[in-house]
Amino acid sequence: MLIFKGNGVYGAYAIGKASVFKRGGKAVLRKKISNVQGEIERLYEAKNQALLELEEIYKKALYEIGEANAQIFEIHMMMVDDEDYNESILNIIRTQLVNAEYAVSLTGENFAEMFSSMEDSYMQARASDVKDISNRIIACLLDKNDKKIDFGEKIIICADDLAPSETVSLNKDMVIAFVTEQGTGNSHTAILARNMNIPAVVNVGEGFLERIRDNDLLIIDGYNGEIIAAPDADTLSKYKALQKQDIEKKQLLQKLKGKENITLDGKKINVFANIGSPDNIGSVLLNDAGGIGLFRSEFLYLEKDRFPTEDEQFYSYKKVLESMGGKKVIIRTLDIGADKQIDYFNMDKEENPALGVRAIRICLTRPDIFKTQLRALYRASVYGNLGIMFPMITSEKELKQVLEICDDVKKELKKTNIKYSDKIEIGIMIETPASAIISDKLAPLVDFFSIGTNDLTQYTLACDRQNSKLSPFCDPHNEAILRLIRYSANSAHKYGKWIGICGELAADLTLTEEFLRIGIDELSVSPPYILKLRDKIRNIRLDD
Ligand code: PEP
Ligand code: MG
Repeated sequence: MLIFKGNGVYGAYAIGKASVFKRGGKAVLRKKISNVQGEIERLYEAKNQALLELEEIYKKALYEIGEANAQIFEIHMMMVDDEDYNESILNIIRTQLVNAEYAVSLTGENFAEMFSSMEDSYMQARASDVKDISNRIIACLLDKNDKKIDFGEKIIICADDLAPSETVSLNKDMVIAFVTEQGTGNSHTAILARNMNIPAVVNVGEGFLERIRDNDLLIIDGYNGEIIAAPDADTLSKYKALQKQDIEKKQLLQKLKGKENITLDGKKINVFANIGSPDNIGSVLLNDAGGIGLFRSEFLYLEKDRFPTEDEQFYSYKKVLESMGGKKVIIRTLDIGADKQIDYFNMDKEENPALGVRAIRICLTRPDIFKTQLRALYRASVYGNLGIMFPMITSEKELKQVLEICDDVKKELKKTNIKYSDKIEIGIMIETPASAIISDKLAPLVDFFSIGTNDLTQYTLACDRQNSKLSPFCDPHNEAILRLIRYSANSAHKYGKWIGICGELAADLTLTEEFLRIGIDELSVSPPYILKLRDKIRNIRLDD
């Protein structure tokens, strides 16, 4: 088994036989000529032929991948007619008295070199476009007919590089993936692969083609940019399962994209995502989440060996808010303690850390840490649609203290002319039995509740969530939990506030109908569960 690494340009899996694509025979010879006019006429004929071919490719692209993606071939046609490009070719023919093939090849190389040396990565990637059109004109001059890549069976193309026009000419029914030694994720070849939904890995590096033979079995992991050649049985079955799940997920996504999360009888609900880092945004967008219902901000602290600064936090929150483009982003303040211990917090050792100084209790006893986070959050709020949520609330007094600290932070920011949004929603987690039981008192003080069923289950059923031996006693479907959820939902709605669930129970499809009947307004789950949950909601009928 051999593993190669490159840049994945389209996330998908392919399993199939390799077909090594070598151009060969295209060496351009420099020949002296005496009939300059005759050579220029040959050049014009070849250019016309190239333009006709590009017109055909443009039409194919327009039909298969739409106008925006087909535009590159319009640009290719313009490049063929570009004044500077043509002047350079004619100049070489006239002054050096050489054949048109050589003049085109030299001009193509010079222009490609010029693009490659530009600072801008978009312009750098244009080098392959100019090489592509030059090769096409040369092939027309040589009257070679090897520009089409046609294969009799389903294969994975392994090539040194593929030109955009070669990529778009691929027969998608036959080419299930491609791998190139060269290329960048920004090239048109990569962009086209993405739009044609072809799993592709580029920039695998020199030497790849020497180690691959026609008909070798390959696994292409377009997500991680990996190629596995001659996989063992376990690896093969693992990737077959991954491929199956991936296809099912994409079919579901196709079915649900842009559709509302609405039951058969018209009840709407928000389906949001839980994340632990700005790095998770990709999977949030990939799964078409309606927003972020829980950003566990403590992971920003856990990944460091010192307190993250206000600015470091600000940039993380800003990134998430901007990436979500105005969709709701609920960031939970620091929830350290219990199973999430951090050395540099220098906390006292506790007998029962789950019942100890954790989450909001740390924030209220160490307001310096809390205020730094709040400042970062308020500063970031102008970049999107922020909600701030506080964990482990057990009393009205605690919540009022928290709100006072928020007011202090806002006053400090105002004094120094630092802007923050006045549309931030403030919410709390309902994850202690106390908060659920007094939810009618807490609701008037906030904009929303989000139920943390992980801790609510732990504290209601007196079951340490870390202790797997307790699973027979720790049933999150216990009526006590559902009653607390129902009571909290009634409290929230009595005061016109919304309520969501962000604990793991939100993804339990056997409870989705019950949650909808209770009146839950939002379910926030890990990104991989989003599509299945949305599908479930769209198949529920509440009025029977
Ligand atoms: C919960 O308790 O349900 C929750 C979402 O918070 P965490 O799992 O981070 O404690
Ligand atoms: Mg919790």
